[in-house]
This record gives sequence, structure tokens and C-alpha cells, in this order.
Amino acid sequence: MLPLWLNNGVSMPLEEYKRKRRFEETPEPAGKVEKKSAHRFVVQKHDATRLHYDFRLEMEGVLKSWAVPKGPSLDPADKRLAMQVEDHPVSYFDFEGAIPEGNYGAGTVMVWDVGTWQPLSPVPVEGKYLPGTDAEAAAMLAKGDLKFRLKGKKLNGDFALIKMKGRRPGSKGTEWLLIKKHDDYAVDGYNIDDYDESVLSKRSLAEIAGDAGAREWTSSRPAVGRGKLKAAWLADAVAKLDKKRLEEKKPGKKPAAKKKRKK
Ligand code: MN
Repeated sequence: MLPLWLNNGVSMPLEEYKRKRRFEETPEPAGKVEKKSAHRFVVQKHDATRLHYDFRLEMEGVLKSWAVPKGPSLDPADKRLAMQVEDHPVSYFDFEGAIPEGNYGAGTVMVWDVGTWQPLSPVPVEGKYLPGTDAEAAAMLAKGDLKFRLKGKKLNGDFALIKMKGRRPGSKGTEWLLIKKHDDYAVDGYNIDDYDESVLSKRSLAEIAGDAGAREWTSSRPAVGRGKLKAAWLADAVAKLDKKRLEEKKPGKKPAAKKKRKK
């Protein structure tokens, strides 16, 4: 029998995602394959067994996903290893919080960056890559050389995801490289550790992990700056997170909590 990971991309969409998770235990969305794809992307900082960043592009009704151990970089000199992982449901793009101990990917998840992406045509015109089509994006993904432009809060400009060939023995065949192209958004010596802040809640990873308590959350809320969020879908995501946090604070939510909090 073939190892299950060999089914990646061949099996039913989201099948692997669903197989790995127990939705009665994890707050992650069960999700479904969407009929239409907007062109959103999300980068989630994920403090699991090992800290890594999950880079996800909305494509073909799901989030195509790569785990990037060192995280994306704006420095074109950095070639960041990106392991392709199972497709995630589109509703995952604003998931921030804690995956409980004992569950797949247990640990803290931060929405590190969000925005939109655009496929670039695989053939440059006079040295410049021009916007491409969804069909070109699908073909580039299948070929293992996907060029795209990001418009995010932290990540901007042109990037490429390139599938590594010449696999070593024991390799899963899921290794890609995430590389920033040279453009106006390139930053030499980019250090991702300098940007430990959620684009949704403004919290650091430690604050999310400590669950920031009601006090801290309340005081951090005005900093979210909903008025500055131009994209409606991002404002929705922030509102949803706010609502979730408020619900978590309600004493009635937990059966064990009988004490009423003093206001
Ligand atoms: Mn992850």
C-alpha cells in the first residue's frame, strides 16, 4: 500500500485535511471546497512542534498550502524551503488561536499576513512579468514553477514558488523554494522575527498563546483599527475574531465557570 502522502493532490479535495483532524476537539474549520476562488493569500505563524509559517494561496476552491520553516522573506537572496502540505479549506484563512494539545498541529496560530495575490504570466515581456490568468496559474502549479504577485500588509511584490527536482532518497517530493523576485518591494537582510504581530488582532504569538486574558484583549481592541481596513473581507475576518473572543469571555460558555466576573 502506498503511504498516504502520495495521495496528495490525487485524492478528493480536502480529504487529507479532514482525515487529520477531529473537529469536535479543534477550533479549526471543517470547511468545504468553494465554487469560486477570490485571490486571497494568508501567512499563518504556527508555533507547533517546531515554529514555522504556513503560506496559503486561494486557488481552485481551496487554500494551496506550504509550510515554510524559516518563513517567507523579502530578501531575494533568501531561498526559503517550503514543504507543500495538504490543501486547507478557504475558511481557514482567518483562523487564529490555539489548536489543543493532542491534536494535529497542536499549538498557537497567528494570522501573520493577509492580502490578495495575482498570477503572473510565465513568460516575461522585456524582463517584466505581467499579470496572468487562472489557467496559467494552474499550469504553473502543476509544472512546479508558480510566479505570482502579492499585495499584503507585510508581503508585497513578485515571488516564485519553485518545486525542487533531483529528489534525495527519502524525500517526499513535496519540497519547494519560496523566493522573492527583485523589485521595489525587495528588502535586503529582511528579518521576519522583527514582525511578530497578528494583522487581525495585533497580538504577538506569546499574547495569543497566553490567550491574552480578557483585560489584555480589551485594551488591545482599539488598536485593531477597523476603520483602516479597506478590504471588506478582512474587516469581516476581524469582526468575526472579535465576536469569537467576546464569546470566549462570557462566563456562560464554560459549564464549569459559575463565578460571575466583577466588572
Ligand atoms: Mn502549520
